[in-house]
Amino acid sequence: MSFAQKIKNGNRPFTVAGPCSAESEEQVLKICKQIATNESVQLLRAGIWKPRTRPNSFEGLGAIALPWLVRAGKENNLPVTTEVANKKHVELALAAGVDVLWIGARTTVNPFAVQEIADAVKGIDIPVMIKNPVNPDLQLWLGAFERFENVGITDLTAIHRGFSVYNHPRYRNVPSWEIPIALNENRPDLPIICDPSHITGNRGLLLEVSQKAMDLNFDGLMIETHPNPNEAWSDAAQQVTADGLKSILDQLVLRSKEVSREVEIVLEELRSDVKLLDDQLFDLLGARMKLSEDVGRLKRENNITILQQEHWTKVIAERIASRGDYRLTQNFVRQFMDAIHLESIRHQTKVMNPETGSKENGKKS
Ligand code: PEP
Ligand code: MN
Repeated sequence: MSFAQKIKNGNRPFTVAGPCSAESEEQVLKICKQIATNESVQLLRAGIWKPRTRPNSFEGLGAIALPWLVRAGKENNLPVTTEVANKKHVELALAAGVDVLWIGARTTVNPFAVQEIADAVKGIDIPVMIKNPVNPDLQLWLGAFERFENVGITDLTAIHRGFSVYNHPRYRNVPSWEIPIALNENRPDLPIICDPSHITGNRGLLLEVSQKAMDLNFDGLMIETHPNPNEAWSDAAQQVTADGLKSILDQLVLRSKEVSREVEIVLEELRSDVKLLDDQLFDLLGARMKLSEDVGRLKRENNITILQQEHWTKVIAERIASRGDYRLTQNFVRQFMDAIHLESIRHQTKVMNPETGSKENGKKS
């Protein structure tokens, strides 16, 4: 059975744990021994080459640390993995006996780098895990899998580690769950592991994000663990001790993917009620857009612009103020109203500029 099949068919969560970075032989051996006692842990990790965003931070000890990780794997009877970012890393990792390679988020963004790594493993029987690119680009993530498949490497697993944003109040990297869900829609064959450590950047949020990943049917988790997290040379705020890891895994509520016949019947009833409401919602949206076209005609006859900013600002503010009645978050109300507004502008443009407006008609679904 391939490594990917083991992840997909084994007990959830398939857990990858170990330090962000290998810092000393003692540190690697110590943390790996501690976490290996947990039966969820099935793969040991340690960063050897660290792609840091800014120079002059700790960039990993390099090849000297490879034998420490491999030894930790042998002593605990577990496979080991590390990040590779170029051909040289691949050669050194394979020569040292690393069992699984992973491609980091800053590498997945670069098709040249991904291709170089794929070419370096061509003809070798090695599992590869591919983290999402730092930017929210599903095609780039899918493309990385295809580059490996094109050279005959098919034992592949996805890792969702979130997407870069500027100054987010809560996350280090926003999860944008719709992207791993879309990956799963495109590639249901690929196992998918969530990395809550790099999503949150904060050990206090690991349980919440791990639980969400389990509720969304992820197969596994990658959680950074360190004998003394606060002293870690990289990513100190997000690492946990072996006990911290155990506590997270023990608290997870694992729900079944299977639906019994009885539950299915009730679920179908609820879903058909939901569909009725969705039908009404779309009928209303259609009527709403017809009105937008009337508004567009009036603006055209009177030669006034489509966007009346003051009016729109007032509409948004009123809608957000009254959202409490509808159990909706402010964020949802804003996004929903923006989507309606854009579609309304498209309809108004169509009646106002029938010659050029039709070019802006957007994709029909
Ligand atoms: C890591 O796993 O330590 C790492 C650098 O991850 P990412 O590529 O997700 O930033
Ligand atoms: Mn890290």
